[in-house]
Amino acid sequence: THFGFETVAESLKQSKVAEVFSSVASSYDTMNDLMSLGIHRLWKDHFVSSINPGLNPLIHTPSPSSSSTSAPTDPLRILDIAGGTGDIAFRILDYTTTIHNDSTSHVTVADINPSMLSEGQKRASKSPYANTGRIDFIEANAEQLSTIPSNSIDIYTVAFGIRNFTSIPTALREAHRVLKPGGLFACLEFSKVQNPVFDAVYKRWSFGAIPLIGQVVAGDRDSYQYLVESIERFPKQEEFSRMIGEAGFLIPGGGGKEGEKGGWEDLSGGIAAIHKGIKP
Ligand code: SAM
Repeated sequence: THFGFETVAESLKQSKVAEVFSSVASSYDTMNDLMSLGIHRLWKDHFVSSINPGLNPLIHTPSPSSSSTSAPTDPLRILDIAGGTGDIAFRILDYTTTIHNDSTSHVTVADINPSMLSEGQKRASKSPYANTGRIDFIEANAEQLSTIPSNSIDIYTVAFGIRNFTSIPTALREAHRVLKPGGLFACLEFSKVQNPVFDAVYKRWSFGAIPLIGQVVAGDRDSYQYLVESIERFPKQEEFSRMIGEAGFLIPGGGGKEGEKGGWEDLSGGIAAIHKGIKP
């Protein structure tokens, strides 16, 4: 029923996520640096360059309706879901501008949490993109992007957000809906460390140090404890790739021989991974 156990559990998860990100919004960027020893910056840089966003030339498959062979010139529509304070969005804009000399492509940062968005808006107003119309911020739940039309987005990104969603399959189907045919789904998320020895060291760090750093620096042990646990619960690489396929995406490099990685790239031994899918 609508009032069944699952619904209650889901709304509890939603409110817990809201509480966590409201309480970490102002300290979020500092905490990321401390917890990951600054490595999240390198992962995010790599994530964006692996997507290679920008016109000139458009590297993502143009929509099948464009019959001409000339490169499309419409600015790319990029949607950064769970975009928080804009870490990915600003990198994408920097990349399109400096690498592709493309100063028209546009990023929408969508997040469920108004406190995170307002930190992002503050950053945007002090950035080179203030008053360029190249970035905007919307409050939205990844599972129900009702203001985003179907088949309207060239690139959908989500970094360190999807593990917090109540229903990952629902969010993936929504990603599939909003993307244009040929559009790219790209996800950066904590994942599973492959080497058992390194995994033991990493688990000690994450379960021991991260809640402690949260307590000392942000005065908030519980939120950081929640973050560590949500990483632990997230599906491993193969499983998540399968879920992306089930939502209707083609998996680049998928279905390969044994040992060949289909649809994802491990970062730092699997502490994080990039997963991709293409909407057919
Ligand atoms: N992408 C940013 C980055 O990499 O720095 C922010 C990541 S932060 C760890 C996770 C974000 O996901 C938070 O801003 C949170 O509000 C957002 N979030 C959680 N659940 C969401 C949902 N269902 N829909 C949209 N955003 C969500």
